[in-house]
Amino acid sequence: MIKTLLIANRGEIACRVIRSAKKLGMNTVAVYSTADRNAQHVKQADQAVCVGPALASESYLSINAIIDAAKKTGADAIHPGYGFLSENPEFVDACVANGICFVGPSAAAMRAMGRKDAAKLLMEKAGVPVVPGYHGENQDPEFLAEQALEIGYPVLIKARSGGGGKGMRRVDDAHDFAASLESAQREAQASFSDAHVLIEKYVSKPRHIEVQVFGDSHGNVVHLFERDCSLQRRHQKVIEEAPAPGMTDDVRQAMTQAAVTAARAIDYEGAGTIEFIVDGSAGLRTDGFWFMEMNTRLQVEHPVTEAITGVDLVEWQLQAASGGEIPKRQEELTIQGHSVEARLYAEDPVAGFLPATGRLQYLDFARSGRVDSGVVEGDEILPYYDPLLAKLITHSADRLSAFRTLADQLATSKVLGTKTNREFLWRLLSHDEVCSGDFDTSFIDVNLQSLIEQTNEARLIAVACHELINPSALGGADEPTTLATARQLGCWQIWGSCERCIEVEIDDVAHTLRAIESDKDDGWVIHSDSIDNYPKAGVHIKRLSFTRSIIDGVECPVCVVPTDEQIHVQIGAQSASYGRVVSGAGLSSGKTDDAIIAPMPGRIVAVHCNVGDAVSAGQALISMEAMKMEQDLCASKEGVVEILAVAAGDQVAQGDELLRLAPDPDA
Ligand code: ADP
Repeated sequence: MIKTLLIANRGEIACRVIRSAKKLGMNTVAVYSTADRNAQHVKQADQAVCVGPALASESYLSINAIIDAAKKTGADAIHPGYGFLSENPEFVDACVANGICFVGPSAAAMRAMGRKDAAKLLMEKAGVPVVPGYHGENQDPEFLAEQALEIGYPVLIKARSGGGGKGMRRVDDAHDFAASLESAQREAQASFSDAHVLIEKYVSKPRHIEVQVFGDSHGNVVHLFERDCSLQRRHQKVIEEAPAPGMTDDVRQAMTQAAVTAARAIDYEGAGTIEFIVDGSAGLRTDGFWFMEMNTRLQVEHPVTEAITGVDLVEWQLQAASGGEIPKRQEELTIQGHSVEARLYAEDPVAGFLPATGRLQYLDFARSGRVDSGVVEGDEILPYYDPLLAKLITHSADRLSAFRTLADQLATSKVLGTKTNREFLWRLLSHDEVCSGDFDTSFIDVNLQSLIEQTNEARLIAVACHELINPSALGGADEPTTLATARQLGCWQIWGSCERCIEVEIDDVAHTLRAIESDKDDGWVIHSDSIDNYPKAGVHIKRLSFTRSIIDGVECPVCVVPTDEQIHVQIGAQSASYGRVVSGAGLSSGKTDDAIIAPMPGRIVAVHCNVGDAVSAGQALISMEAMKMEQDLCASKEGVVEILAVAAGDQVAQGDELLRLAPDPDA
């Protein structure tokens, strides 16, 4: 059995693995970059080793640094989590060479599935259905264009070494093929150092259904049923559920058998996932699903499978890595109820789901379901890593109540201080078609407007709250906050009489005060159990919550968090920020009229113009990669490129001026 386990990851998954390892009595070792010194996974592990600077390529992705950390702490096994080194066969080789047990499959199994093209060939041989398309060696653009025509539009260009939706382009028309191919190849080269692509038929009304498999070193392979991950944005999952809506016994039988065949074909050991693309145009069919790829690791969405099967998959992984047999036989595994997971990200759905940074000023998850998180209130969301804040998971007897409970959990959780997709997820989970299971992978794109709608109400109340919590207004008994001040803003009348809860910090100690509107309508009576002479100098208001706010006749809680730059408000399920835009939270914050400023730290992937070029408003001038996403930085007006300060490959800091425009003399 493993004695000391090093977790080569960060965030929620590192915390998740530590939990199961501790349950099995193992010592745990965290690794961290200098930027993560105070992160939760570091605090939760028994020991922690710094493996390098903030940049992942120099810390979490450094094989040498991780192996050194394992040796230094006497770790006999390494769990890679997901992402980072989890699917890197060279890392597995390095573990083996150093006598360290890698919790996961063999390097050979990983190599077999590492590239999408080779994996498809292998699966074809094993008799598993694969998506029709071209996955050969020829990369001549004209040849690929001919292949696309033969396959028939729409087609999907995919990077063979791809992952996370990168290097992938849907092409609907032959005219766009060449440009899409070029940009897919560029992204693939930048992300995976491999520009090689394959072309696939784009499946109509596609659904993404995957099967969890598990193998051990004794030749046993079982499946743990399917998950539906069709609700995606930017080809990436945001909601996952198990079992899949509309699944029949026949299709489940065919799909899980194909998955077990795939796992057996490579003598798979440990937890793995076989992803299928499914034609959802006329219900699920036994001949309507095709192998897409295998993920040779634990998936982000593994908790929904754990919920419906009662299995702790990390515990199984650790036991299998120690040479144990799978604790259950196939017939002992059954589906209990329905489970759904939402991925809460620091990102801005309104700005194309652009990753966001900022400090979590207020974080309080409603505990109606499982919460897997790696952050706590006060943590800074860093631009270097994936912006996943937490996974919220519910499990109920039936699908609808699992969805309703999760929507409610999202509505009542407080997440303020950075842009997040919380409200977007709440709308998504409350949508009729989502509740009835009637959707495919295009659902979010098609329904985007209604899912990101923002009401004015939240903004107005943010303004009112800004005035109300102005520290001078709450400065003391001589200067009571009057309702009259707020009423002048013209929106206060939608509120009923309030009792509010104020958290203040005095000499670094937090106190909770209760403020009740006075009967005489002239201010607030403040109650405190812990402070005698409120207020004192140095009072810093952290937050206010209004417990009884009436908005349009409906009672709902309101919570306000002021910071130096912004006022963050959550009203019922909705939230808004008022004040300066969080730097890096949106492209608009990265532009001034004449210049393009880096909205966050990142790497320049391509420059699409030269000095002296005349450009038009909206034209993409620079592509940059930040927080695992490529984004185009566009001209905000027409002009001529006067200064170009960067080239492809450059690292830039937030706020750097990348390009400057001068007025076009010919215009
Ligand atoms: P990655 O490894 O980059 O995540 P995948 O091959 O797993 O890429 O595909 C990601 C998503 O793209 C799928 O979940 C699905 O929504 C969509 N997709 C992939 N292949 C197809 C296809 N042939 N037809 C339609 N949609 C597809």
